[in-house]
Amino acid sequence: MNEKCVYCLKEKNSFNREHVIPQSFGTFGSNTFVLNHNEVCSACNEYFSKDLELSLGRDSIEGRLRFKENIKSEEEFKALTKNKRLIEKAHEEPFKGVYIEARYSEQLQRIEAIPLPQAGFLNKDNIFDYFLWSEIPTNEELVARGYQTDKKGSTRIFGVFDFEEINKKFAEKGFKYFKTEGMIDPDSTMTDISCEITECIGENKFKVMAKIAFNYFIYFKGKAICLSKDFDVIRNYIRYGNKPNYPLVIPKDKAILSDEPIAGMRRSGHIITVNKALDGISIVAQVSLMNYLSYSICLSRNCQETKNDIRRGHFFDPHNKQILELEVR
Ligand SMILES: [Zn+2]
Repeated sequence: MNEKCVYCLKEKNSFNREHVIPQSFGTFGSNTFVLNHNEVCSACNEYFSKDLELSLGRDSIEGRLRFKENIKSEEEFKALTKNKRLIEKAHEEPFKGVYIEARYSEQLQRIEAIPLPQAGFLNKDNIFDYFLWSEIPTNEELVARGYQTDKKGSTRIFGVFDFEEINKKFAEKGFKYFKTEGMIDPDSTMTDISCEITECIGENKFKVMAKIAFNYFIYFKGKAICLSKDFDVIRNYIRYGNKPNYPLVIPKDKAILSDEPIAGMRRSGHIITVNKALDGISIVAQVSLMNYLSYSICLSRNCQETKNDIRRGHFFDPHNKQILELEVR
């Protein structure tokens, strides 16, 4: 018998198990929160895992934190190769500012940092600024911005090992007297360098956070309530990217658990809470993976369900494989 999927609202006969917290962020023993009663159809489930969860795991700061906090072993490390949202740079001299890429090394049996193809130029404060190989400015542009390109040792190149390619690139960019002078091999010295990671948060990150929040709500409230048109805006956003004229997902740098400091050490795990908003008719959820950045998600702006007490919150502990109920304030 066909049933309606809670995300695409289509009548379907093929449904999959859908984990409230993506499985790549841990499992939580026997009472793991899963939607497995014909809520999420196979097509929606596949879209979520391929389009939303893959980049969440491989290309987000939360995804990286899993390795740091031993939720995943370094052997399982994978990063996206295209359209990356993480920008990684070495954080210590003598390589400070060098663009790097994290990779798992079979030989070292751990994640190591490899410099990407790039060139660094000495700025007017005698500090090297780096440009990816495809984004190197012309000599003229660099000089206009105060770079000292004619000085000996004022250029550094990483990640390109072919002298011919280097000379060609620099001739193209209008460097008349450019000359390569030997190589430094950073491979052995960069492995243990500390990195600074920046994430350019994109729409898919917002969608996957919204999906986690809506999954959680469906898990507690059941499918019937969630099929109501009160949730059309959030489901259409998660599934099809349709945005209303107000923000649905807002990232905040604020701890969800009120007894935790905003900066500094937080408990390692994931948190989801749901509550009525101050207006009394909207439903707002908060999601934080790895207890890093928290996202506030508007699940509905006008919902009958707010007449009941909908406050709820859980802490997902992937280390001890348990889910703890929170007292939501
Ligand atoms: Zn569906």
